[in-house]
Amino acid sequence: MPNDRYDCFIGGDWTAAASGEYLDVLDPANGLRLAEIARGGAQEVDAAVASARSALPGWCERPPVERSRILSAIARRLLAEQDRLAHLESRDTGKPLFQARADAVAAARFFEYYAGAADKVLGDAIPMGPEYVDFTVREPMGVTAQIVPWNYPLQIACRGLAPALATGNTVVMKPAELACLSVLEVARICQEEGLPAGVLNIVTGLGQEAGAALASHPDINLAVFTGSVQTGRLVMKSAAENIVPVLLELGGKSPNVLLPDTDLESAVPTLIKAAFPHAGQTCSAATRVVVHRGQHAELVARLAEAIAELTVGPGLEDPSIGALVSQDQKQKVTDYIRIAEEEGARVISGGRALPGARLENGNFVMPTLLDNVKPGMRVHQEEIFGPVLAVVPYDDVEEAVTIANGTEYGLVAGVWGADVKATHRLASRLRAGQVFVNCYGAGGGVELPFGGYGKSGFGREKGMDALLAYTQVKNVCVRIAG
Ligand code: NAD
Repeated sequence: MPNDRYDCFIGGDWTAAASGEYLDVLDPANGLRLAEIARGGAQEVDAAVASARSALPGWCERPPVERSRILSAIARRLLAEQDRLAHLESRDTGKPLFQARADAVAAARFFEYYAGAADKVLGDAIPMGPEYVDFTVREPMGVTAQIVPWNYPLQIACRGLAPALATGNTVVMKPAELACLSVLEVARICQEEGLPAGVLNIVTGLGQEAGAALASHPDINLAVFTGSVQTGRLVMKSAAENIVPVLLELGGKSPNVLLPDTDLESAVPTLIKAAFPHAGQTCSAATRVVVHRGQHAELVARLAEAIAELTVGPGLEDPSIGALVSQDQKQKVTDYIRIAEEEGARVISGGRALPGARLENGNFVMPTLLDNVKPGMRVHQEEIFGPVLAVVPYDDVEEAVTIANGTEYGLVAGVWGADVKATHRLASRLRAGQVFVNCYGAGGGVELPFGGYGKSGFGREKGMDALLAYTQVKNVCVRIAG
């Protein structure tokens, strides 16, 4: 059981909100109170931004190797505490323990990766002839405001934190009110491993209070937001008022496109894993399978068979699929399944909340397979964020490309087939920030640039591209003639 009361973390101190109020954090598996977090607001955001501002010169002027060593020490602590963090993440978010463990390892990996990069952020020397010496330097953006969602608090917090710190920025983070306990534990670890006071600040609270105050704060230099399109739009509008750049990681409706010669036996286990991570509450979940009509019936039979093997239950029991984060989310998902049926899709598996009294207070929905989904249907267009996989048949590859690209999103796509040339041709035509061929995901993906096309957002997290996102270029031109 974690500490059950968490305050904001500002300037190296744990601080109650001025309101004196706390918000309950509920266990998604049973609806019981798990902990409470401070209800921070504009006042705490002001204090956190001021603290990040005053810590900035000291942090960005530290030699990169020193920043690197602190990040390495944080990585080692995250690895050492992975079991405890995974249990906390599993209870807080509802996800199966095996997924929470992978999240804890990925969180550490972000710190390892960017610790290694901190002293390798290079500039260019630009030839200008004998009269000048010209070079570029990459400087930190300054105070970064980072708003984190509830589905992967541990991973997403570390995904933004590690490259920001490596490049000399300071951070004010607003994690999600539904699940954020691991983020507060990361703050504790950072402090204990030598991160100076004020370099990382965390304000917990509601999105429309603490989140809105942070996004609209006039003294931030970069807004990093991961969450829904709707909130991303608000964050972008607020940032526009202050001419602050934004990095948006929004939703997805990612397809796996199966060419007619796909080896279904090897594809199906990956299609299942890709569709249902964290009960489908994953921005990159591959929620559509676009299959040639020649393989359609066999694919549906194989998927149904694989889904029948999945277990559903409390995250700590380590099932295949855990609870959805909230009652609202459960309602939203079951509403979408009803809409799918009304629109003419066929429910092959699942399609309802989990039966049985033992788990009736938890937010469980059975893994659901929808067949005969058509491109115009809402369940094909809109992000459901639940354990719902849609099968969409096609007749020729041209149609498959149109279907795959036929939503507003463009986060990730998968391509399957035996003919190497055909898979490459298809990959080049898909509008998505990441395309996987004959796989979906590669480890934690820490090294791979990640971000969206279209309404999935813009800017890139992860990999070396994130270092560009958290820095700005300064050109220095020195006249040496005469
Ligand atoms: P959300 O937009 O409701 O909330 C995200 C964060 O924004 C939370 O911390 C919330 O408190 C905060 N927030 C809410 N209102 C705000 C406001 N007015 N101003 C500022 N901040 C505010 O999203 P969610 O429901 O928590 O997450 C689900 C969505 O996030 C899905 O659409 C999913 O695809 C997306 N997501 C994307 C990625 C990615 O990397 N692309 C990763 C995870 C989730």
